[in-house]
Amino acid sequence: MWNYVRTVLFLCGAVYWKEEKNTGHKYTKCCHDGKVQLPALPDAPELLKALLTENSPDAKNYRQRIREYNSALAFASMGAQIKPARGTGPYCYRLRGEVYHRVSPLYARDQHKESYGQLYIFDSSEATEKRLSNNQNCLQHVFEKLDFMLREINPFAQSYLQMHRLVQEHPTTSVKIVFLEGKNLDMRRYNAPT
Ligand SMILES: [Zn+2]
Repeated sequence: MWNYVRTVLFLCGAVYWKEEKNTGHKYTKCCHDGKVQLPALPDAPELLKALLTENSPDAKNYRQRIREYNSALAFASMGAQIKPARGTGPYCYRLRGEVYHRVSPLYARDQHKESYGQLYIFDSSEATEKRLSNNQNCLQHVFEKLDFMLREINPFAQSYLQMHRLVQEHPTTSVKIVFLEGKNLDMRRYNAPT
């Protein structure tokens, strides 16, 4: 069993396994001896903090069903070829080839199959009904609160709604979301999803 040790050398607060020292007996993999400094991550929204830490029935349900909540509120689905490793041993999630994020069109062909980003064009209670019908172990008011939070802070929720409103006003318009990157970024790393 490895012991982990908290390095006290840097402000970054990285946690290491004892054996992760380099040949110079130093822990440098996190921030290159303090040379790389990243801004701290912003605080999570209050609602998420409460759901992740409290012991209320809502918070317990949220943590037990967190993957269902996550999928029901997601904007895209993941596409990849899943290849389980052969033989025995601990569970291993193994993918082959590329990983895709599949984004749905603005409107579903089949009204009963509306999902992902499409749900954000409905009002909150209608979207919640649709999510709940596929995730019956989740709680209605938790879905409502999360939906409300995402509509406030998530730019994609706002984009879907904006596109929907445009189409309502001008039915012949065709709309699309385009991802643009800063021109100074390395396009081999930051090329746009297609
Ligand atoms: Zn560090």
